[in-house]
Amino acid sequence: TVRTRIAPSPTGFLHLGTARTALYSWAYARHHGGQFVLRIEDTDVARSTQESVEQILASMHWLGLDYDEGPIYQMQRLDRYREVVEQMLAAGTAYRCYCTPAELDAMKEAQRARGEKALYDGRWRPAPGKVLPPVPEGVPPVIRFCNPPEGDVTWNDLVKGPIAINNREIDDLIIVRTDGVPTYNFAVVVDDWDMGITHVFRGDEHINNTPWQINIFRALGAPLPQFGHVPVILGDDGQKLSKRRGAVSVTAYEEGGYLPEAMLNYLARLGWSHGDDELFTREQMVGWFDGTHLSKSPAQWDAAKLAWVNAQYIKAKPDAELAPLVAAQLQKRGIVPDDRLTAICALFKDRCDTTVALAGWAAAFYSDVQPGEADRAQHVTDAVRPAIAALGDKLATVAWDKASIAVAIKEVLAAQGLKMPALAMPVRVLVMGTAQTPSLDAVLALFSREEILKRLQAS
Ligand code: GLU
Repeated sequence: TVRTRIAPSPTGFLHLGTARTALYSWAYARHHGGQFVLRIEDTDVARSTQESVEQILASMHWLGLDYDEGPIYQMQRLDRYREVVEQMLAAGTAYRCYCTPAELDAMKEAQRARGEKALYDGRWRPAPGKVLPPVPEGVPPVIRFCNPPEGDVTWNDLVKGPIAINNREIDDLIIVRTDGVPTYNFAVVVDDWDMGITHVFRGDEHINNTPWQINIFRALGAPLPQFGHVPVILGDDGQKLSKRRGAVSVTAYEEGGYLPEAMLNYLARLGWSHGDDELFTREQMVGWFDGTHLSKSPAQWDAAKLAWVNAQYIKAKPDAELAPLVAAQLQKRGIVPDDRLTAICALFKDRCDTTVALAGWAAAFYSDVQPGEADRAQHVTDAVRPAIAALGDKLATVAWDKASIAVAIKEVLAAQGLKMPALAMPVRVLVMGTAQTPSLDAVLALFSREEILKRLQAS
């Protein structure tokens, strides 16, 4: 059965790139009726935090990327890595290296001076008939992998196609550091092996690691998974999407009022396609995602397109489901909404591309508005004040529903000899703080009569 995984390092938020790889791994497993595993790669002890683990898990949950196993923590598997290392040392596929950092620097310096690629020269690598240097005192060893000295490492990448790297290009990788903690390239292989991973999707920044990993799989006699290296996501400026260039964490978009289903849809399309389909459900994606049609070239982050996708999802979402999301945004502004919120969502959602924008409109119903000076000056003129006052008088007595309010507005227009915009614009400015709103009768009907009379009096 197909088994995929996502293996984030808990050194920050869930990055959009990792979220996308997680989505592909998840969808591929679901497409094949397989399993998806979450592994936390926390061997970088200095930079890993519990807070980051929690944020990553929360983002996975928010996106609805459910996993069948995990989270599995690498730091809880140290015994297992030690066991494998012992086996490798015994089998002669790994060895202790006592080079000091200074010695390594000197080695690489000399290589560079000769115009060669800086590679570990294998001075501690055992070989038949070879005499190793005497073990120095007080130097804690690292453990290195005996990389095959020549031949090509080849694989057929699910995204990039056939790849071949010559073993002369890579050196004997450190698999255990002096402190006994395994390195990424080693732990990842033991884990993918133990967890029965069949397909690895990850960012193509790891493509240079894959030859080492394949060699270690082979040395362990472990079955090779298939690899798919997904190109990076570029920002609007053509540079790699990074913190300095805007929001790169899933959390930022959650807080920014994006819907998880819209995020998933957008992330899916960022590097994968199904014909011309732009909008699709997660079930459709699972149905379609068979590992083909993954793009070989970097994807371009397009904030406007994401906003468009989100707007489509907001429009399509039932108002009663939108309301609690908007309520959560309102609570951040210290506003506790009431049961009008569903109707407010219905009236305003067509003009919003985030729930934050929707909360912005809703806020006008729960707190005083401060119309802009320009809007006031343009629309709330002396000429129209008598009509505003007349509308107030009329609204003080009509039945309080949309139809009756519409009739009241028409009567005032007729009596004052005005066209709709001449009255509607200033009333919108006074009531909502802006002249651009949905139909006036619908807006007014969502307020209480008292509140409307109060706001009109502020003219
Ligand atoms: N911890 C690695 C990362 O976050 C995982 C790479 C992999 O999937 O093998 O980049």
